[in-house]
Amino acid sequence: MTVASVNPATGETLKTFEPLGADEVDGRIAVAHRTFLEYRRTSFADRARRMNAAADVLDARQDEIARVMTAEMGKPIAAARAEAAKCATTMRFYAEHAEGFLADDPLADPSRVKASAAMVRWQPLGVVLAVMPWNFPLWQVVRFAAPALMAGNTGLLKHASNVPQTALFLEELFLEGGFPRGCFQTLLIGSGQVERVLRDDRVAAATLTGSEAAGRSVAAIAGDEIKKTVLELGGSDAFVVMPSADLAAAVSTAVTARVQNNGQSCIAAKRFIVHEAVFDAFADAFTARMRDLRVGDPADEATDVGPLATEQGRTDVAELVADAVAQGATVLCGGEVPDGPGWFYPPTVLTEVTPAMRMYAEEVFGPVAQLHRVASADEAVRVANATSFGLGSAAWTTDAAERELFVGELEAGAVFVNGMVASSPDLPFGGIKRSGYGRELAALGIREFCNAKTVWVA
Ligand code: NAP
Repeated sequence: MTVASVNPATGETLKTFEPLGADEVDGRIAVAHRTFLEYRRTSFADRARRMNAAADVLDARQDEIARVMTAEMGKPIAAARAEAAKCATTMRFYAEHAEGFLADDPLADPSRVKASAAMVRWQPLGVVLAVMPWNFPLWQVVRFAAPALMAGNTGLLKHASNVPQTALFLEELFLEGGFPRGCFQTLLIGSGQVERVLRDDRVAAATLTGSEAAGRSVAAIAGDEIKKTVLELGGSDAFVVMPSADLAAAVSTAVTARVQNNGQSCIAAKRFIVHEAVFDAFADAFTARMRDLRVGDPADEATDVGPLATEQGRTDVAELVADAVAQGATVLCGGEVPDGPGWFYPPTVLTEVTPAMRMYAEEVFGPVAQLHRVASADEAVRVANATSFGLGSAAWTTDAAERELFVGELEAGAVFVNGMVASSPDLPFGGIKRSGYGRELAALGIREFCNAKTVWVA
Protein backbone atom coordinates (compact mmCIF):
# COMPACT_ATOMS: atom_id res chain seq x y z
CA MET A 1 0.00 0.00 0.00
CA THR A 2 1.35 3.45 -0.87
CA VAL A 3 1.59 6.03 1.87
CA ALA A 4 -0.81 8.71 0.63
CA SER A 5 -3.73 10.95 1.51
CA VAL A 6 -6.63 10.26 -0.85
CA ASN A 7 -9.87 12.19 -0.33
CA PRO A 8 -12.60 9.54 0.04
CA ALA A 9 -15.32 12.01 -0.88
CA THR A 10 -13.83 12.52 -4.34
CA GLY A 11 -11.23 9.79 -4.89
CA GLU A 12 -8.62 12.51 -5.53
CA THR A 13 -5.03 11.85 -4.38
CA LEU A 14 -4.05 14.83 -2.23
CA LYS A 15 -0.47 13.97 -1.36
CA THR A 16 1.87 10.99 -1.57
CA PHE A 17 4.84 10.26 0.66
CA GLU A 18 7.98 8.23 0.18
CA PRO A 19 8.12 5.56 2.91
CA LEU A 20 11.21 5.73 5.14
CA GLY A 21 14.15 3.56 4.13
CA ALA A 22 15.64 0.95 6.46
CA ASP A 23 18.46 3.29 7.57
CA GLU A 24 16.06 6.08 8.43
CA VAL A 25 13.89 3.70 10.43
CA ASP A 26 16.97 2.46 12.21
CA GLY A 27 18.02 6.00 13.06
CA ARG A 28 14.63 6.75 14.58
CA ILE A 29 14.68 3.61 16.68
CA ALA A 30 18.12 4.63 17.95
CA VAL A 31 16.86 8.11 18.89
CA ALA A 32 13.80 6.63 20.62
CA HIS A 33 15.96 4.29 22.65
CA ARG A 34 18.59 6.88 23.58
CA THR A 35 15.86 9.29 24.60
CA PHE A 36 14.19 6.64 26.75
CA LEU A 37 17.33 6.10 28.80
CA GLU A 38 17.24 9.77 29.88
CA TYR A 39 13.52 10.45 29.73
CA ARG A 40 12.57 7.59 32.06
CA ARG A 41 14.22 9.53 34.91
CA THR A 42 12.19 12.73 34.40
CA SER A 43 9.63 13.68 37.03
CA PHE A 44 5.88 13.40 36.63
CA ALA A 45 5.67 17.18 37.06
CA ASP A 46 8.04 17.69 34.15
CA ARG A 47 6.16 15.27 31.89
CA ALA A 48 2.81 16.80 32.92
CA ARG A 49 4.00 20.29 32.03
CA ARG A 50 4.88 19.10 28.51
CA MET A 51 1.69 17.08 28.14
CA ASN A 52 -0.47 20.05 29.15
CA ALA A 53 1.47 22.25 26.73
CA ALA A 54 0.85 19.73 23.93
CA ALA A 55 -2.87 19.73 24.83
CA ASP A 56 -2.88 23.53 24.49
CA VAL A 57 -1.24 23.21 21.07
CA LEU A 58 -3.90 20.73 20.04
CA ASP A 59 -6.69 23.06 21.14
CA ALA A 60 -5.09 25.93 19.26
CA ARG A 61 -4.75 23.83 16.10
CA GLN A 62 -8.06 21.99 16.44
CA ASP A 63 -9.70 23.26 13.29
CA GLU A 64 -6.59 22.64 11.19
CA ILE A 65 -6.19 19.00 12.23
CA ALA A 66 -9.96 18.40 12.00
CA ARG A 67 -9.85 19.45 8.36
CA VAL A 68 -6.88 17.20 7.69
CA MET A 69 -8.68 14.18 9.18
CA THR A 70 -11.85 14.92 7.21
CA ALA A 71 -9.86 15.23 3.99
CA GLU A 72 -7.86 12.05 4.61
CA MET A 73 -10.53 9.67 5.86
CA GLY A 74 -13.95 11.31 5.39
CA LYS A 75 -15.06 11.87 8.99
CA PRO A 76 -17.76 14.58 9.26
CA ILE A 77 -16.05 17.81 10.25
CA ALA A 78 -17.96 18.33 13.50
CA ALA A 79 -16.96 14.84 14.64
CA ALA A 80 -13.36 15.55 13.68
CA ARG A 81 -13.31 18.65 15.89
CA ALA A 82 -14.89 16.67 18.74
CA GLU A 83 -12.21 14.00 18.34
CA ALA A 84 -9.45 16.58 18.67
CA ALA A 85 -11.11 18.07 21.76
CA LYS A 86 -11.41 14.63 23.37
CA CYS A 87 -7.71 14.02 22.74
CA ALA A 88 -6.77 17.26 24.51
CA THR A 89 -8.98 16.29 27.45
CA THR A 90 -7.30 12.89 27.66
CA MET A 91 -3.82 14.41 27.53
CA ARG A 92 -4.74 16.67 30.46
CA PHE A 93 -6.33 13.71 32.27
CA TYR A 94 -3.09 11.73 32.20
CA ALA A 95 -1.03 14.83 32.99
CA GLU A 96 -3.09 15.12 36.17
CA HIS A 97 -3.51 11.47 37.16
CA ALA A 98 -0.42 9.58 35.96
CA GLU A 99 1.50 10.12 39.18
CA GLY A 100 -1.37 8.75 41.29
CA PHE A 101 -1.95 5.79 38.95
CA LEU A 102 1.72 4.87 39.13
CA ALA A 103 2.35 5.59 42.80
CA ASP A 104 4.01 2.77 44.76
CA ASP A 105 1.46 0.15 45.71
CA PRO A 106 2.47 -0.95 49.24
CA LEU A 107 1.53 -4.25 50.84
CA ALA A 108 -0.62 -3.37 53.85
CA ASP A 109 0.96 -5.96 56.14
CA PRO A 110 4.57 -6.64 55.01
CA SER A 111 5.13 -8.96 58.00
CA ARG A 112 3.10 -11.57 56.07
CA VAL A 113 6.08 -11.87 53.70
CA LYS A 114 8.66 -11.39 56.45
CA ALA A 115 9.55 -7.90 55.22
CA SER A 116 9.72 -4.49 56.79
CA ALA A 117 8.25 -3.09 53.58
CA ALA A 118 6.96 -4.56 50.32
CA MET A 119 5.40 -2.87 47.34
CA VAL A 120 4.87 -2.76 43.61
CA ARG A 121 6.73 0.00 41.81
CA TRP A 122 5.55 0.88 38.28
CA GLN A 123 8.42 1.55 35.91
CA PRO A 124 8.36 2.27 32.17
CA LEU A 125 9.24 -0.55 29.77
CA GLY A 126 11.04 1.38 27.04
CA VAL A 127 10.33 2.08 23.38
CA VAL A 128 6.78 1.06 22.46
CA LEU A 129 5.72 0.58 18.84
CA ALA A 130 2.14 1.68 18.12
CA VAL A 131 0.50 0.30 14.97
CA MET A 132 -2.65 2.31 14.48
CA PRO A 133 -5.76 2.48 12.23
CA TRP A 134 -7.24 5.37 10.27
CA ASN A 135 -10.76 5.42 11.71
CA PHE A 136 -10.09 7.69 14.70
CA PRO A 137 -6.67 8.78 13.46
CA LEU A 138 -5.97 11.18 16.29
CA TRP A 139 -7.81 9.49 19.16
CA GLN A 140 -6.43 5.98 18.72
CA VAL A 141 -2.90 7.37 18.87
CA VAL A 142 -3.41 9.80 21.73
CA ARG A 143 -5.05 7.22 23.95
CA PHE A 144 -1.83 5.23 23.59
CA ALA A 145 0.64 8.12 23.61
CA ALA A 146 -0.67 10.19 26.53
CA PRO A 147 -0.37 7.40 29.12
CA ALA A 148 2.78 5.92 27.54
CA LEU A 149 4.68 9.21 27.66
CA MET A 150 3.39 10.07 31.13
CA ALA A 151 4.67 6.67 32.33
CA GLY A 152 8.15 7.47 30.99
CA ASN A 153 8.09 5.32 27.85
CA THR A 154 8.89 6.61 24.38
CA GLY A 155 6.74 5.87 21.34
CA LEU A 156 7.15 5.02 17.66
CA LEU A 157 4.02 5.40 15.55
CA LYS A 158 3.33 3.31 12.46
CA HIS A 159 0.04 4.84 11.41
CA ALA A 160 -2.30 3.54 8.71
CA SER A 161 -0.94 4.31 5.25
CA ASN A 162 -3.94 6.49 4.30
CA VAL A 163 -3.53 9.05 7.13
CA PRO A 164 0.09 10.22 6.79
CA GLN A 165 -0.67 13.90 7.34
CA THR A 166 -2.41 13.17 10.64
CA ALA A 167 0.54 10.95 11.57
CA LEU A 168 3.02 13.76 10.91
CA PHE A 169 0.83 16.23 12.82
CA LEU A 170 1.02 13.95 15.88
CA GLU A 171 4.81 14.00 15.84
CA GLU A 172 4.75 17.79 15.62
CA LEU A 173 2.22 18.05 18.42
CA PHE A 174 4.42 16.40 21.03
CA LEU A 175 7.49 18.31 19.81
CA GLU A 176 5.63 21.61 20.09
CA GLY A 177 4.54 20.60 23.58
CA GLY A 178 8.22 20.46 24.50
CA PHE A 179 8.89 16.72 24.56
CA PRO A 180 12.39 15.73 23.40
CA ARG A 181 12.39 14.61 19.75
CA GLY A 182 12.85 10.93 20.57
CA CYS A 183 9.82 10.74 22.86
CA PHE A 184 7.34 10.37 20.03
CA GLN A 185 8.24 9.79 16.39
CA THR A 186 6.21 8.90 13.35
CA LEU A 187 7.54 6.23 11.01
CA LEU A 188 5.99 6.61 7.58
CA ILE A 189 6.29 2.95 6.62
CA GLY A 190 4.10 0.25 5.12
CA SER A 191 2.90 -2.74 7.11
CA GLY A 192 5.65 -4.87 5.53
CA GLN A 193 8.26 -2.90 7.51
CA VAL A 194 6.64 -3.51 10.90
CA GLU A 195 8.33 -6.84 11.55
CA ARG A 196 11.83 -5.36 11.39
CA VAL A 197 10.93 -2.68 13.91
CA LEU A 198 9.25 -5.15 16.22
CA ARG A 199 12.21 -7.53 16.19
CA ASP A 200 14.68 -4.75 17.02
CA ASP A 201 16.12 -5.32 20.51
CA ARG A 202 15.70 -1.65 21.33
CA VAL A 203 11.90 -1.92 20.95
CA ALA A 204 10.34 -3.31 24.14
CA ALA A 205 6.65 -3.74 23.34
CA ALA A 206 3.87 -3.05 20.87
CA THR A 207 0.26 -1.99 20.80
CA LEU A 208 -1.94 -2.51 17.76
CA THR A 209 -5.39 -1.24 17.02
CA GLY A 210 -6.83 -2.65 13.84
CA SER A 211 -8.06 -5.79 12.17
CA GLU A 212 -7.80 -9.34 13.42
CA ALA A 213 -5.33 -10.21 10.66
CA ALA A 214 -2.97 -7.39 11.57
CA GLY A 215 -3.28 -8.22 15.27
CA ARG A 216 -2.49 -11.85 14.69
CA SER A 217 0.62 -10.99 12.68
CA VAL A 218 2.00 -8.47 15.18
CA ALA A 219 1.20 -10.66 18.19
CA ALA A 220 2.85 -13.68 16.56
CA ILE A 221 6.07 -11.76 15.92
CA ALA A 222 6.01 -10.17 19.37
CA GLY A 223 5.35 -13.61 20.87
CA ASP A 224 8.35 -14.98 19.06
CA GLU A 225 10.41 -12.13 20.55
CA ILE A 226 8.74 -12.47 24.01
CA LYS A 227 7.55 -8.88 23.91
CA LYS A 228 4.44 -7.52 25.57
CA THR A 229 1.50 -6.56 23.33
CA VAL A 230 -1.88 -4.92 23.69
CA LEU A 231 -4.38 -5.66 20.91
CA GLU A 232 -7.51 -3.62 20.22
CA LEU A 233 -9.19 -5.41 17.32
CA GLY A 234 -12.56 -5.57 15.64
CA GLY A 235 -16.02 -5.81 17.10
CA SER A 236 -19.57 -6.71 16.19
CA ASP A 237 -21.26 -5.19 19.21
CA ALA A 238 -24.74 -6.22 20.26
CA PHE A 239 -27.37 -3.61 21.13
CA VAL A 240 -30.17 -5.37 23.02
CA VAL A 241 -33.58 -3.75 23.41
CA MET A 242 -36.13 -5.18 25.86
CA PRO A 243 -39.81 -4.21 26.25
CA SER A 244 -39.24 -2.11 29.40
CA ALA A 245 -36.76 0.19 27.62
CA ASP A 246 -37.44 3.81 26.73
CA LEU A 247 -37.97 3.01 23.06
CA ALA A 248 -37.59 6.54 21.71
CA ALA A 249 -34.26 6.94 23.50
CA ALA A 250 -33.13 3.49 22.38
CA VAL A 251 -33.94 4.24 18.74
CA SER A 252 -32.22 7.58 18.72
CA THR A 253 -29.10 6.19 20.43
CA ALA A 254 -29.12 3.14 18.14
CA VAL A 255 -28.90 5.36 15.06
CA THR A 256 -25.95 7.32 16.47
CA ALA A 257 -24.29 4.13 17.69
CA ARG A 258 -24.48 2.58 14.22
CA VAL A 259 -23.54 5.49 11.98
CA GLN A 260 -20.96 7.33 14.10
CA ASN A 261 -17.81 7.85 12.08
CA ASN A 262 -19.69 6.80 8.91
CA GLY A 263 -20.27 3.38 10.47
CA GLN A 264 -16.55 2.71 10.88
CA SER A 265 -16.08 2.33 14.61
CA CYS A 266 -14.91 -0.79 16.40
CA ILE A 267 -17.48 -0.11 19.16
CA ALA A 268 -20.31 0.81 16.82
CA ALA A 269 -23.46 -1.16 17.63
CA LYS A 270 -23.67 -3.52 14.67
CA ARG A 271 -26.25 -6.14 15.68
CA PHE A 272 -29.57 -4.90 17.09
CA ILE A 273 -31.24 -7.65 19.10
CA VAL A 274 -34.79 -6.63 19.85
CA HIS A 275 -37.52 -8.35 21.86
CA GLU A 276 -40.49 -9.38 19.72
CA ALA A 277 -42.90 -7.28 21.82
CA VAL A 278 -41.23 -4.09 20.59
CA PHE A 279 -39.50 -5.33 17.44
CA ASP A 280 -41.87 -3.84 14.85
CA ALA A 281 -42.05 -0.47 16.60
CA PHE A 282 -38.26 -0.36 16.92
CA ALA A 283 -37.69 -1.45 13.32
CA ASP A 284 -40.10 1.16 11.92
CA ALA A 285 -38.73 4.07 13.95
CA PHE A 286 -35.10 3.04 13.48
CA THR A 287 -35.45 2.59 9.72
CA ALA A 288 -37.20 5.94 9.36
CA ARG A 289 -34.36 7.67 11.21
CA MET A 290 -31.66 5.85 9.21
CA ARG A 291 -33.38 6.79 5.94
CA ASP A 292 -33.51 10.46 6.96
CA LEU A 293 -29.79 10.81 7.61
CA ARG A 294 -28.02 13.28 5.38
CA VAL A 295 -25.25 11.56 3.41
CA GLY A 296 -22.74 13.80 1.67
CA ASP A 297 -19.60 15.91 1.77
CA PRO A 298 -18.01 15.40 5.19
CA ALA A 299 -16.61 18.94 5.10
CA ASP A 300 -20.20 20.25 5.09
CA GLU A 301 -21.36 20.97 8.66
CA ALA A 302 -24.84 19.60 7.90
CA THR A 303 -23.65 16.14 6.83
CA ASP A 304 -24.50 13.19 9.08
CA VAL A 305 -22.75 10.43 7.15
CA GLY A 306 -19.73 10.89 4.90
CA PRO A 307 -18.01 8.38 2.60
CA LEU A 308 -16.24 5.22 3.69
CA ALA A 309 -12.53 5.81 4.08
CA THR A 310 -11.28 3.60 1.28
CA GLU A 311 -12.57 2.09 -1.93
CA GLN A 312 -11.74 -1.38 -0.62
CA GLY A 313 -13.73 -0.65 2.55
CA ARG A 314 -16.81 0.14 0.49
CA THR A 315 -16.35 -2.94 -1.66
CA ASP A 316 -16.15 -5.08 1.50
CA VAL A 317 -19.38 -3.61 2.90
CA ALA A 318 -21.22 -3.94 -0.42
CA GLU A 319 -20.14 -7.59 -0.71
CA LEU A 320 -21.37 -8.43 2.79
CA VAL A 321 -24.76 -6.86 2.06
CA ALA A 322 -25.00 -8.58 -1.35
CA ASP A 323 -24.20 -11.94 0.24
CA ALA A 324 -26.93 -11.48 2.87
CA VAL A 325 -29.51 -10.33 0.33
CA ALA A 326 -28.70 -13.23 -2.01
CA GLN A 327 -29.41 -15.61 0.85
CA GLY A 328 -32.75 -14.08 1.82
CA ALA A 329 -32.11 -11.05 4.05
CA THR A 330 -34.71 -8.29 3.78
CA VAL A 331 -33.55 -4.73 3.07
CA LEU A 332 -35.60 -2.13 4.98
CA CYS A 333 -33.56 0.78 3.61
CA GLY A 334 -30.35 1.46 1.72
CA GLY A 335 -28.35 -1.46 0.36
CA GLU A 336 -27.36 0.04 -3.00
CA VAL A 337 -23.98 1.52 -3.94
CA PRO A 338 -24.72 5.02 -5.25
CA ASP A 339 -23.42 6.36 -8.56
CA GLY A 340 -20.93 9.20 -8.59
CA PRO A 341 -17.50 9.98 -7.23
CA GLY A 342 -16.34 9.06 -3.73
CA TRP A 343 -16.86 5.93 -1.69
CA PHE A 344 -20.29 6.60 -0.26
CA TYR A 345 -22.57 3.89 1.08
CA PRO A 346 -26.09 4.65 2.34
CA PRO A 347 -27.36 3.92 5.86
CA THR A 348 -28.78 0.42 5.49
CA VAL A 349 -31.07 -1.73 7.64
CA LEU A 350 -31.46 -5.49 7.15
CA THR A 351 -33.65 -8.10 8.85
CA GLU A 352 -33.83 -11.90 8.52
CA VAL A 353 -30.06 -12.21 8.81
CA THR A 354 -29.18 -15.86 9.47
CA PRO A 355 -26.00 -17.69 10.53
CA ALA A 356 -25.53 -18.80 6.92
CA MET A 357 -24.78 -15.22 5.89
CA ARG A 358 -21.27 -13.82 6.22
CA MET A 359 -22.36 -10.71 8.12
CA TYR A 360 -23.78 -12.82 10.93
CA ALA A 361 -20.19 -13.62 11.94
CA GLU A 362 -18.08 -10.92 10.29
CA GLU A 363 -17.66 -7.29 11.24
CA VAL A 364 -19.46 -4.88 8.89
CA PHE A 365 -17.34 -1.72 8.83
CA GLY A 366 -19.89 0.69 7.38
CA PRO A 367 -23.38 2.10 8.18
CA VAL A 368 -25.22 -1.22 7.94
CA ALA A 369 -27.46 -2.45 10.76
CA GLN A 370 -28.87 -5.93 11.17
CA LEU A 371 -32.00 -6.41 13.27
CA HIS A 372 -32.62 -9.70 15.08
CA ARG A 373 -35.96 -10.61 16.68
CA VAL A 374 -35.80 -12.57 19.96
CA ALA A 375 -38.44 -13.95 22.34
CA SER A 376 -36.67 -13.59 25.69
CA ALA A 377 -33.72 -12.07 27.54
CA ASP A 378 -31.99 -15.46 27.53
CA GLU A 379 -32.33 -15.69 23.77
CA ALA A 380 -31.00 -12.13 23.47
CA VAL A 381 -27.88 -13.17 25.40
CA ARG A 382 -27.43 -16.25 23.19
CA VAL A 383 -27.66 -14.24 19.97
CA ALA A 384 -25.46 -11.46 21.36
CA ASN A 385 -22.76 -13.96 22.29
CA ALA A 386 -22.93 -15.88 19.00
CA THR A 387 -19.87 -14.08 17.66
CA SER A 388 -16.13 -14.50 17.86
CA PHE A 389 -15.83 -10.83 18.90
CA GLY A 390 -16.20 -9.44 22.41
CA LEU A 391 -15.57 -5.70 22.45
CA GLY A 392 -18.56 -3.69 23.71
CA SER A 393 -22.28 -4.30 24.21
CA ALA A 394 -25.33 -2.27 25.11
CA ALA A 395 -28.48 -3.45 26.89
CA TRP A 396 -31.64 -1.42 27.09
CA THR A 397 -33.96 -2.41 29.93
CA THR A 398 -35.36 -0.93 33.14
CA ASP A 399 -35.88 -4.36 34.69
CA ALA A 400 -33.32 -4.99 37.47
CA ALA A 401 -33.14 -8.76 36.95
CA GLU A 402 -32.60 -8.36 33.21
CA ARG A 403 -29.91 -5.77 33.83
CA GLU A 404 -28.02 -8.19 36.08
CA LEU A 405 -28.40 -10.93 33.46
CA PHE A 406 -26.92 -8.77 30.71
CA VAL A 407 -24.12 -7.37 32.87
CA GLY A 408 -23.21 -10.88 33.97
CA GLU A 409 -23.65 -12.83 30.76
CA LEU A 410 -22.76 -10.62 27.79
CA GLU A 411 -19.31 -11.69 26.57
CA ALA A 412 -17.63 -8.35 26.04
CA GLY A 413 -15.04 -5.98 27.46
CA ALA A 414 -17.81 -3.53 28.32
CA VAL A 415 -21.55 -3.47 28.96
CA PHE A 416 -23.38 -0.15 28.78
CA VAL A 417 -26.90 -0.19 30.22
CA ASN A 418 -29.39 2.23 28.62
CA GLY A 419 -26.63 4.06 26.79
CA MET A 420 -24.15 3.90 23.94
CA VAL A 421 -20.78 2.20 24.22
CA ALA A 422 -18.18 4.95 24.25
CA SER A 423 -14.59 5.43 25.33
CA SER A 424 -13.60 7.88 28.02
CA PRO A 425 -10.26 8.48 29.75
CA ASP A 426 -11.91 7.56 33.08
CA LEU A 427 -12.95 4.05 32.02
CA PRO A 428 -10.81 1.10 30.93
CA PHE A 429 -11.34 0.13 27.29
CA GLY A 430 -10.63 -3.17 25.55
CA GLY A 431 -11.99 -6.49 24.46
CA ILE A 432 -12.08 -10.21 24.99
CA LYS A 433 -12.27 -13.12 22.52
CA ARG A 434 -11.12 -12.08 19.03
CA SER A 435 -11.51 -8.40 19.89
CA GLY A 436 -8.11 -8.53 21.54
CA TYR A 437 -6.59 -8.27 24.99
CA GLY A 438 -5.21 -5.71 27.37
CA ARG A 439 -6.78 -2.42 28.30
CA GLU A 440 -6.32 1.18 27.31
CA LEU A 441 -7.33 4.30 29.27
CA ALA A 442 -7.84 4.85 33.01
CA ALA A 443 -5.34 3.36 35.48
CA LEU A 444 -5.26 -0.06 33.79
CA GLY A 445 -4.22 1.55 30.50
CA ILE A 446 -1.17 3.36 31.82
CA ARG A 447 0.01 0.22 33.64
CA GLU A 448 0.04 -1.96 30.49
CA PHE A 449 3.43 -0.71 29.37
CA CYS A 450 5.01 -0.71 32.81
CA ASN A 451 7.13 -3.20 34.67
CA ALA A 452 5.21 -4.00 37.86
CA LYS A 453 8.38 -4.36 39.89
CA THR A 454 7.98 -6.19 43.19
CA VAL A 455 10.11 -4.60 45.89
CA TRP A 456 10.82 -6.51 49.12
CA VAL A 457 12.85 -5.02 51.94
CA ALA A 458 14.05 -7.15 54.87
P1 NAP B 1 -5.86 -2.79 9.51
O1 NAP B 1 -5.88 -3.01 8.07
O2 NAP B 1 -5.59 -3.90 10.42
O3 NAP B 1 -4.81 -1.60 9.77
C1 NAP B 1 -4.48 -1.15 11.05
C2 NAP B 1 -3.01 -0.87 11.11
O4 NAP B 1 -2.29 -2.09 11.01
C3 NAP B 1 -2.49 -0.01 9.97
O5 NAP B 1 -1.46 0.82 10.43
C4 NAP B 1 -1.96 -1.04 8.98
O6 NAP B 1 -0.99 -0.52 8.13
C5 NAP B 1 -1.38 -2.04 9.92
N1 NAP B 1 -1.27 -3.40 9.39
C6 NAP B 1 -2.11 -4.04 8.57
N2 NAP B 1 -1.70 -5.30 8.35
C7 NAP B 1 -0.57 -5.46 9.06
C8 NAP B 1 0.34 -6.53 9.25
N3 NAP B 1 0.15 -7.72 8.67
N4 NAP B 1 1.41 -6.35 10.04
C9 NAP B 1 1.62 -5.16 10.65
N5 NAP B 1 0.79 -4.11 10.51
C10 NAP B 1 -0.30 -4.25 9.74
O7 NAP B 1 -7.22 -2.19 10.04
P2 NAP B 1 -8.08 -1.03 9.41
O8 NAP B 1 -8.86 -1.57 8.29
O9 NAP B 1 -7.24 0.16 9.14
O10 NAP B 1 -9.00 -0.66 10.67
C11 NAP B 1 -10.24 -1.23 10.86
C12 NAP B 1 -10.20 -2.31 11.92
O11 NAP B 1 -9.69 -1.79 13.15
C13 NAP B 1 -11.58 -2.80 12.24
O12 NAP B 1 -11.57 -4.19 12.39
C14 NAP B 1 -11.89 -2.11 13.55
O13 NAP B 1 -12.90 -2.73 14.31
C15 NAP B 1 -10.58 -2.13 14.21
N6 NAP B 1 -10.51 -1.14 15.29
C16 NAP B 1 -10.46 -1.57 16.58
C17 NAP B 1 -10.45 -0.67 17.62
C18 NAP B 1 -10.40 -1.10 19.05
O14 NAP B 1 -10.12 -0.26 19.90
N7 NAP B 1 -10.67 -2.34 19.39
C19 NAP B 1 -10.49 0.70 17.33
C20 NAP B 1 -10.55 1.09 16.00
C21 NAP B 1 -10.55 0.15 14.98
P3 NAP B 1 -1.34 -0.15 6.58
O15 NAP B 1 -2.34 0.94 6.63
O16 NAP B 1 -0.03 0.30 6.05
O17 NAP B 1 -1.86 -1.40 5.96
